[in-house]
Amino acid sequence: MSFSATVLTLYPEMFPGPLGLSLAGRGLGEGAWSLETVQIRDFALDRHRSVDDTPAGGGAGMVMRADVLARAVDHASPQGDPRPRLLMSPRGKPLTQARVRALAAGPGAVILCGRFEGVDQRLIDLRGLEEVSVGDFILSGGEPAAIVLLDAVVRLLPGVMGNAQSGDEESFENGLLEHPHYTRPQEFEGRPIPEVLTSGNHAKIAAWRRAQAEKLTKERRPDLMAKPPHPVQK
Ligand code: SAH
Repeated sequence: MSFSATVLTLYPEMFPGPLGLSLAGRGLGEGAWSLETVQIRDFALDRHRSVDDTPAGGGAGMVMRADVLARAVDHASPQGDPRPRLLMSPRGKPLTQARVRALAAGPGAVILCGRFEGVDQRLIDLRGLEEVSVGDFILSGGEPAAIVLLDAVVRLLPGVMGNAQSGDEESFENGLLEHPHYTRPQEFEGRPIPEVLTSGNHAKIAAWRRAQAEKLTKERRPDLMAKPPHPVQK
């Protein structure tokens, strides 16, 4: 069984969106993964098909109702569904390449996209939703966050990315940011490609790249250096 994603959203038209193009889109077409959307509004309980209501305790905005969402979640992910249930949320654990890898190794994901001020806490607690954030900023809805998460997962699936090895040296895969890249022309606006890269000496090139990666990481993301080191070679 290939990776199976189910996205619960008020805007199913946003999918597959960018995931229908390029590597992810080809993988989708070839069955390397599958994507289903569920319109949350179809699970509303009144004839106005409302999915949200005013926040208990007052304040601005609207909150997505637990009862409506529970019906949608139970439909999309009945008991026994082995897939993790994710809620895209700025309060969630920041998404990492390690979590992305674990998801890609699993059966798929059920992803709930929030809108308005967010969702009733009882739904999160009672349906065991794992809150996932894509960064410390506020989006207008969970859909772009779900697309980010799925893009990161899908490119790791077997048969999606042409050159499997090119995944291993990416930023974060070994706890470092990646080294800089160069390609032709040999000289651009007076600047040549660093000499070592055209030397043909593979050991020297590897050492230079490693040193550049460490320097960049130290400058830009010292927090990554503080984490336990990962092996360079797999
Ligand atoms: N009132 C909330 C923000 C709601 S934004 C708060 O202050 O925490 C509306 C929806 O967009 C959220 O329910 C969530 O699904 C999505 N969203 C916004 N920012 C996000 C982020 N950084 N990561 C993941 N999802 C996000």
